[in-house]
Amino acid sequence: MSEEIRIIGGGITGLFLAYHHTKRGDAVTLYESSNKLGGLIGTNTVEEGLVEFAANGVLLTDSMNSMLDDIGLTPLFPNNASKRRYFWTNRKLSRLPISILTGLRLLYTVCFKKLKFNEEQNFETWARHMFGSAITENIIEPAIGGVYGTRLESLQAESIFNQWDGSGSSTILKEILKNKRKTYGTVSFPLGMGDLISHLVDYLKPKIQIKTNVSLDSLEEILQWKGKVKLSISLKNLIPLLGNQIDREETPNLLSITTITRFGKNHLTIDPCFGILFGKNEGIHALGVLCNSDIFPGRANNDLHSETWIYPSVAKTDDKISWESILEEDRKQITGKTDSPKAVYITSWTGAFPAYDRKLFLFNKRLDVLESQWIAEGKDIRFFGNYRKGIGLRSLFESTSRE
Ligand SMILES: Cc1cc2nc3c(=O)[nH]c(=O)nc-3n(C[C@H](O)[C@H](O)[C@H](O)COP(=O)(O)OP(=O)(O)OC[C@H]3O[C@@H](n4cnc5c(N)ncnc54)[C@H](O)[C@@H]3O)c2cc1C
Repeated sequence: MSEEIRIIGGGITGLFLAYHHTKRGDAVTLYESSNKLGGLIGTNTVEEGLVEFAANGVLLTDSMNSMLDDIGLTPLFPNNASKRRYFWTNRKLSRLPISILTGLRLLYTVCFKKLKFNEEQNFETWARHMFGSAITENIIEPAIGGVYGTRLESLQAESIFNQWDGSGSSTILKEILKNKRKTYGTVSFPLGMGDLISHLVDYLKPKIQIKTNVSLDSLEEILQWKGKVKLSISLKNLIPLLGNQIDREETPNLLSITTITRFGKNHLTIDPCFGILFGKNEGIHALGVLCNSDIFPGRANNDLHSETWIYPSVAKTDDKISWESILEEDRKQITGKTDSPKAVYITSWTGAFPAYDRKLFLFNKRLDVLESQWIAEGKDIRFFGNYRKGIGLRSLFESTSRE
């Protein structure tokens, strides 16, 4: 039976929700506070090539692929050369930054060691207990930090792997297999991630009502609405909307990220690669760098190379130092040479990322309680977004497809 659905927030989460509901034949109205859809995601076409505002790619699954078929968009697969991925550990590039013996320990831990989360421990302390220092410092710290926009000490394992059974009766391997879906690697689109937004919007426009420049800032008003309501605004905007529904000490932490897309004549690494992940205390300010023009065709013009560097905004400790000089200093450590970029594009997102820590874990429990409380009162209002079930677009696509 067709249902009336109101979606608040026209970022990718809201657009995915709208897509799934139109497939079910529901009557959807989407409200977006700004004059454009897509939220964080978008692509700027500049003289030197493409500049992504946030996400550079999405993990392709079968269900995502059928959505792309529906909206008439062909995924752009990465170049073969980009299979090479580097870690920067002990101040050098490495594809496998641990010894064979440590590798065997990693294998043993993943396959046989009982998985037990500890609410008292941050991710770093927990990982050191679970895997040992070498694996934590050389693999987990750079890999997790690069995705979650901060260092391990500001994160918590249970918050990130909230779908996993961490009670001490399962193993990491069992949990991976339980949650495993077939994936086809990271893809982008011919005109960048903005292409995904414009195709989704073109597909949805004739099927749903889209109301831009409408900011819904009163929870009382939303609670009066009939039909189902899906809140898909960012965590940063959700906190003030919830008002006194949450106590001050329950307020989750937010992270600020700066990305810099740099176009230059010279390659960052000798061989083309996907990018580099940086460990802590390795003399580099960045969390990671993506070698865009090595990964996807059409990212840079005129034989230029394109890289996107990802920084926690706290990496800039002095207003007198520019982001450009921080980047060039980091770059020099890797190449051993001073270089001048052709162009640099900086995007700073304040409070764009939820900090996946203990507070967020408890905040989500609080949201579960609120949802149940409202259902008991006959109001179907639910929360969706990158603070709920995972930060990446694939998680957002899957979580929005479930009722
Ligand atoms: C730098 C960076 C790089 C990333 N890289 C990747 C990547 O490579 N791959 C990947 O999978 N993910 C990546 N991510 C994560 C991914 O981009 C985000 O998780 C995702 O875009 C969040 O989308 P959203 O719709 O939940 O939130 P948002 O994009 O924040 O959208 C929320 C929307 O709600 C609107 N809104 C807010 N308040 C109201 C209101 N009161 N009423 C109406 N509308 C409102 C906003 O205007 C906005 O349009 C990256 C994120 C960043 C910041």
